[in-house]
Amino acid sequence: MQLRYKPFELLLKYPFSISGFTRTSTPLMLLEIECEGQIGYGEASMVPYHGESVATATAFLSKVKLDWLKLPFDFDELIAYLDELAPGNPNIKAAIDIALHDLQGKLEGKPCYTYFGSDPEQMPATSITIGMDTPEVILQKVKDAELAKILKVKLGGEADKLLIETIRSVSNKPLFVDANQGWKDRIQASEMIHWLHEQDVLLIEQPMDKNNWDDNAWVSEQSPIPILGDESIQRLADVEKAKGVYQGINIKLMKSAGMYEAYKMIQRARELDLKILIGCMSETSCATLAGAALAPLCDWADLDGPFLTKNNPFPNPDFKDGKWVLADRPGLGLA
Ligand code: MG
Repeated sequence: MQLRYKPFELLLKYPFSISGFTRTSTPLMLLEIECEGQIGYGEASMVPYHGESVATATAFLSKVKLDWLKLPFDFDELIAYLDELAPGNPNIKAAIDIALHDLQGKLEGKPCYTYFGSDPEQMPATSITIGMDTPEVILQKVKDAELAKILKVKLGGEADKLLIETIRSVSNKPLFVDANQGWKDRIQASEMIHWLHEQDVLLIEQPMDKNNWDDNAWVSEQSPIPILGDESIQRLADVEKAKGVYQGINIKLMKSAGMYEAYKMIQRARELDLKILIGCMSETSCATLAGAALAPLCDWADLDGPFLTKNNPFPNPDFKDGKWVLADRPGLGLA
């Protein structure tokens, strides 16, 4: 089994602003794992606030040996092995997990979604994100997102109501709202949530600081809209903590260390009666299709990487009626 990797700078169409910071590109590590003439593709999207970088990913990959793996790959054993090599590093672990799922699908002639009992017909619509900006740019972004049936709006700044009103002046599509921990006072947060309820908002992510479990729970309790933990909920062990605090969780492959643990998180969330949004970072078609393979098991999807970036090195997957189309091809289905 041969492991190859190269850094890649993924450029964003617009400088991306959320509560707290702005950036114009995202460093990726693109992976190939080759075995018996087949190549599995994987990707780590190393958003700066996760603390991973090309240097940390390279250091981690230099320790990885995969020759012990036998088909069908034992992903429980793989995750345990990767976690033993070093704690943390969920993004580069996700890249390895994604590449191995793609490879296994190709070696066995099966689409990845079949490993999770995921039904392509149950694919939820994916939102396209409108980052914080001036009203003029917001209107342009809404226009750019015309293929989406749902828009996702980043709030948590000074001009939250203006931003929503700007969108509502040109679009009545339902909205997801992501506050990215930006609301600081729970009473103001609750008032904002009730106002958003009148604006056809379907869910709200991470209203308050990820470590402030009490205020997030209080806000959830008052809310007429499902409140989801995102920054609070990283890997499988965190799903338990969401119960009684949030109505749901945002699962991302770059937090969960890949598809396999994301699947375990989906199963545990269902047992705990939690709603599920499957989200993403700035990603190419590769990680987007990995997320899409699990999306039919979730309530909502926010897998908009290819719409927000301008140098995706892979062809865009098929997108129809606001939804990704899972191809009946072995592996992830990258064209
Ligand atoms: Mg979020």
